[in-house]
Amino acid sequence: MIGIFGGTFDPVHLGHLLLARAAADHLGLQRVIFVPLGLPPHRDLPKASPQSRVNMLQAALTDSPDFEVSTVEIDRPSPSWTVHTLEHFCDEMPDETFCLLMGSDAFRSINQWYQWQSLLDYCHLVVVSRAGDKTELGSEVAAYLARHRCTSLYDITDGCSGGIYWLEADIPDISSTLIRHRVDADEPLTGLLPPAVESLIKEHGHYGY
Ligand code: ATP
Ligand code: MG
Repeated sequence: MIGIFGGTFDPVHLGHLLLARAAADHLGLQRVIFVPLGLPPHRDLPKASPQSRVNMLQAALTDSPDFEVSTVEIDRPSPSWTVHTLEHFCDEMPDETFCLLMGSDAFRSINQWYQWQSLLDYCHLVVVSRAGDKTELGSEVAAYLARHRCTSLYDITDGCSGGIYWLEADIPDISSTLIRHRVDADEPLTGLLPPAVESLIKEHGHYGY
């Protein structure tokens, strides 16, 4: 099974890498494809350019041979709809099984995503608990989880799509927002980012450095 991990990655940080590692270890994923979004449909434009976010991701992933970056959303001129991205990977690798990785905060608003009811036609969802994210799910998303939740790993690895697996993992409470604020305030970034990403932020003056 291949993990697809979408996000703004503005910038990528250790929370992202540890989430992907936890999912890869737990589910035995062959690889994880990080997909930085191009034009975000649901939020403000990222601060760093698409190419800079790709460069930071590539720097972050050099020591992880099973992690890679795809520019499929960045190369698309239209908004980054995840359902189209999944369709793309399913067309490209018709014999593979996919799981879409996300933090619990992203899952909470999944019912706002374009064609969200179709996501499970292409993949399983793997939701990783996010520290500090204690808000309850709204009724529509809670019902969606209840309908599709798989508590056994076998249900996920046996079927090719349609399950939601909730993974409790101890991921540090780091966010890109925190990093951007710390850079802007000239505060240290120790323990938040791979050193190679911090070097790129400094070298290119991202986030006001
Ligand atoms: P921002 O603060 O700009 O929103 P972010 O840190 O939330 O950035 P995103 O690029 O928005 O990063 O997130 C991509 C995905 O990674 C989302 O599914 C999000 O839930 C998940 N994620 C990011 N950081 C963590 C973390 N520390 N623990 C668990 N999940 C995380
Ligand atoms: Mg976020």
